[in-house]
Amino acid sequence: MTGTAAVIGGSIGGLFAAAALRKAGWQVQVHERVGVPLSGRGAGIVTHPQLLHALAEVGADTSDLGVQVHDRVVFDRDGARVTTLPYPQIVTSWDRMYQTLRRLIPDDAYHLGEMLASYTEDADGVTLHFESGAEARVDLLVGADGFRSAVRARLLPDVQPAYSGYVVWRALAQEADLSPEMRDRIFDVFGMFMPQGTQIVGYPIAGENNDLRPGHRRYNFVWYFPVSQDGLTDMLTDASGQTHAISIPPPLVRDDVLAQLEETAARVLPDVFQHVLAKSERPFFTPIYDHLSPTFAKGRVALSGDAACVARPHVGMGVTKAAQDALALARHLAGDVSAGLQAYSAERVPLSRAAYERSQMLGRHMMQVPMQGDPMDGRHNPNMDEIIRLTAVADF
Ligand SMILES: Cc1cc2nc3c(=O)[nH]c(=O)nc-3n(C[C@H](O)[C@H](O)[C@H](O)COP(=O)(O)OP(=O)(O)OC[C@H]3O[C@@H](n4cnc5c(N)ncnc54)[C@H](O)[C@@H]3O)c2cc1C
Repeated sequence: MTGTAAVIGGSIGGLFAAAALRKAGWQVQVHERVGVPLSGRGAGIVTHPQLLHALAEVGADTSDLGVQVHDRVVFDRDGARVTTLPYPQIVTSWDRMYQTLRRLIPDDAYHLGEMLASYTEDADGVTLHFESGAEARVDLLVGADGFRSAVRARLLPDVQPAYSGYVVWRALAQEADLSPEMRDRIFDVFGMFMPQGTQIVGYPIAGENNDLRPGHRRYNFVWYFPVSQDGLTDMLTDASGQTHAISIPPPLVRDDVLAQLEETAARVLPDVFQHVLAKSERPFFTPIYDHLSPTFAKGRVALSGDAACVARPHVGMGVTKAAQDALALARHLAGDVSAGLQAYSAERVPLSRAAYERSQMLGRHMMQVPMQGDPMDGRHNPNMDEIIRLTAVADF
């Protein structure tokens, strides 16, 4: 059957779910709590064949999707190439994905500044209660409201994201700002540096307004960095002494936290990645959390994207996983809603678990690997072959 659906969360997961349901004949309204069009989150996004397939399925434009890289290259502390693995992949940006999907949803079905407070469900439907006091009644509710999902908090209150023990620092450098020598050494590859206890990943993405012309692109820098729970609390505290829960707005990251990052970069990173960081706009960090919901649906309520499961970014699957959730949701809802949602959950939980467990394994390879030889030179990681082969690979 089809009917009315509300998608909570107007980010990439919510847009994918809305686009797939609309294509299957559902009348869908998207409700996003942020009051302005979303932008810039996540910076670089690696793509996979499953994502390209899903984009085509929902009718999205996949032309000029991003920058094509051909090889993965591991650098050592001296900036020399340790190993190269041919692996063609398109790397794109969060903005490009968002804009592409946003075009598929009419403006009158996409509502900014609408925060879901709670919902009540009965045999015939779901009633949504928004912070504003507004209410809506639908046949189907999809929680695509991210890893701190309000929908999941009501559906599965025991599921709580757990801090992984590390954060990811991210930064973007303009291609034109890089020295020609440094640019030539790293720009056209998916680059990595993997000494003990930390890891760098970097790759080119489009410039502003999806500009793919050489010289106008950007370099996406990702640095996984161990931080204790107490250290994280300190990093989440701004200069006024306020400690932010979960994440801190980038402009509020204290100068001494950034100074510490620069000091560590000078000590630990190869020259190419030091150069990228030095040429970047203000870096920002995101704590890495894990969670996997034991079920993705109950009754007339479904979870999708990060609300359902967060696999650490090592697998680069957040967007692809959200896309796969969306297609499966629309496909299973051809008949009765509750039965369809159970089939959706039965399909998606095991596949999400595979990505989740893979991402944790890659995290362990980064953090806990005992190395023979110099652990910081980036040449002695015993799992180097596995890391280069499995990072940002979606084989489920
Ligand atoms: C460092 C890093 C690198 C990454 N790299 C990749 C990559 O290479 N490839 C990849 O595929 N993925 C990657 N990801 C993950 C990817 O960005 C997400 O998994 C993906 O965007 C799906 O997010 P989502 O839409 O489910 O959730 P979110 O993007 O968190 O969106 C949830 C939305 O719901 C809204 N919301 C929350 N609560 C409410 C409420 N009560 N009412 C209304 N709205 C609400 C929020 O404002 C938000 O807009 C990366 C993530 C990180 C941190």
